[in-house]
Amino acid sequence: MIVKRKALSFWERLYLPALLSGLKVTIGHFFRKSVTMQYPEEKWVVPEGYRGAPYLVKDQEDRTKCVSCQLCEFVCPPKAIMITPPGPASAPETGNVEKAPLEFEINMLRCIFCGYCQEVCPEEAIFLMKDYSLTGTSRAEMIYDKEKLLALGGVHQDSIQKWKRKQDEAEIQGVGAHPVVNHGSTDK
Ligand code: SF4
Ligand code: SF4
Repeated sequence: MIVKRKALSFWERLYLPALLSGLKVTIGHFFRKSVTMQYPEEKWVVPEGYRGAPYLVKDQEDRTKCVSCQLCEFVCPPKAIMITPPGPASAPETGNVEKAPLEFEINMLRCIFCGYCQEVCPEEAIFLMKDYSLTGTSRAEMIYDKEKLLALGGVHQDSIQKWKRKQDEAEIQGVGAHPVVNHGSTDK
């Protein structure tokens, strides 16, 4: 089937009207306020409640809050979290904290920023922060270890401190400030 082309009118053959209307749009934008962000020099300010990269936090007394319960590792949909729990020979990092992970890794290439780890954590030890732009020069660099996660997470000022409550209870009962409390309890 032969499709007949519509013949161009005189004005269309001139091309000038199309050229001028294009210039009109360009000049119109030229005097408007720019909406382009000069990224990465200019950073996007994320709204409250934004769910970015998950990091580990410390409490007001600079203690690692994570007790290595591995709930977050279990619930993580893409299996981005890998925890090495403390073995029999590894001592807890601090006085009355029950346990702490020997190693805690998050593969940021796998993480989908879903927030399940934050939801499930009984210790409020992991939070999704506002970081949305994670870069690295290798795959290995994108696996964040415990030290890096704690450094990025920083101190959580409104931390619950279960260890402190247990310490207070122990002192009231006169059993000393640092009893052995490693029963795997997660009660608040
Ligand atoms: S935010 Fe989601 S995907 Fe990322 S580590 Fe937590 S549970 Fe896993
Ligand atoms: S759920 Fe919380 S306390 Fe348990 S291993 Fe994960 S970060 Fe640590």
